[in-house]
Amino acid sequence: MKPQLKNIQAYAAGLSDEALKRKTGYKGKFSRLASNENPIGPTPKVKEVLLQNITALNYYPDPEALSLKEKLAQFYNITQEQIFIGAGLDEVIMAISRAMLVPGGEVLTSEGTFIQYTTHALIEDNQLKAIPLIDGRFNLEGIVAAINDKTNIIWICNPNNPTGTYVSEQQLITFLDQVPEHITVILDEAYFEFALADDYPDGVSLLKKYTNLIVLRTFSKAYGLASMRVGYAMTSKEYIDEFNKVKLPFNVTTLSLLAAETALADQDYLNKYVQDNKRERERLFSKPYSHHLLPSETNFIFIKTDNPQSLFNTFIRYGVISRPLPIGVRVTIGTEEDNKKIDQALTEYFEI
Ligand code: PMP
Repeated sequence: MKPQLKNIQAYAAGLSDEALKRKTGYKGKFSRLASNENPIGPTPKVKEVLLQNITALNYYPDPEALSLKEKLAQFYNITQEQIFIGAGLDEVIMAISRAMLVPGGEVLTSEGTFIQYTTHALIEDNQLKAIPLIDGRFNLEGIVAAINDKTNIIWICNPNNPTGTYVSEQQLITFLDQVPEHITVILDEAYFEFALADDYPDGVSLLKKYTNLIVLRTFSKAYGLASMRVGYAMTSKEYIDEFNKVKLPFNVTTLSLLAAETALADQDYLNKYVQDNKRERERLFSKPYSHHLLPSETNFIFIKTDNPQSLFNTFIRYGVISRPLPIGVRVTIGTEEDNKKIDQALTEYFEI
């Protein structure tokens, strides 16, 4: 076995509803708000397409995902050769790490960000250098200062999971201008569609200028297809050609590719959900406990507390499954009904 696996934990799924009911005594239906999933699901057109194509299961999927790439290329005004499709961003992050991480090097990112950057750095025998967040935000100046001869790649999550904060276009450009060209910057924009602030940057528009930039997006969050596992990277052909060498041959299923294409085509449905999410988010931020929340441009909120486990337990009593983390608790913005439970739990917790 690789010795570095000793320091890595396998992904632990949360308790089932039944186990939680027994453990907590809560009788109603739990609101599953621990993984930033879309609570209303994808456009209904996805169901139609899946039913129409359910008979083709005996054939392997298109290993090049050409049809989806064509649609994405049109959507973003880039070429198909600039796109890599993976089984969720999880696979994309693995493929980038596998292709790029020369053993003995360093991976640079922030503390308090998405855990898979760390997991794959360690598996590929790289040191992880994680710079502390400042007020829940990526410290880009600190990251630039930590670049050294061993730095292989830099991961920036924008908006950041789990804190929900973002770095502005100006901050990002200042940062990219300072990173040497031979170091690759990967901008994980899994929550891109939810970020409506005027100064939030669009990574794709920076690809032409910064040839060392890779931008990641997913169908799991705003498009409501977490179970279908489709994510993608956009960058130059030179990178994509290498990532294609390490991907599994038939990594994304036919039905998943069709679902993604169909969801992409229904931008009206997406925009309505994004606006609904924004309205619900603003409602939570209008409450008296809002100073305990980090600002969010995503479909989740991060509540600062010294005792995350106790807030997690309060949420459970209101039937909400959240995600406790070292400096607070993250909870997904759900339906109106889910969010009422969040509001009641936070009102009780902060004794308002
Ligand atoms: N990046 C970030 C920042 C995420 O929050 C997630 C999912 N939680 C992923 C990547 C992976 O997403 P998926 O594999 O579902 O595309």
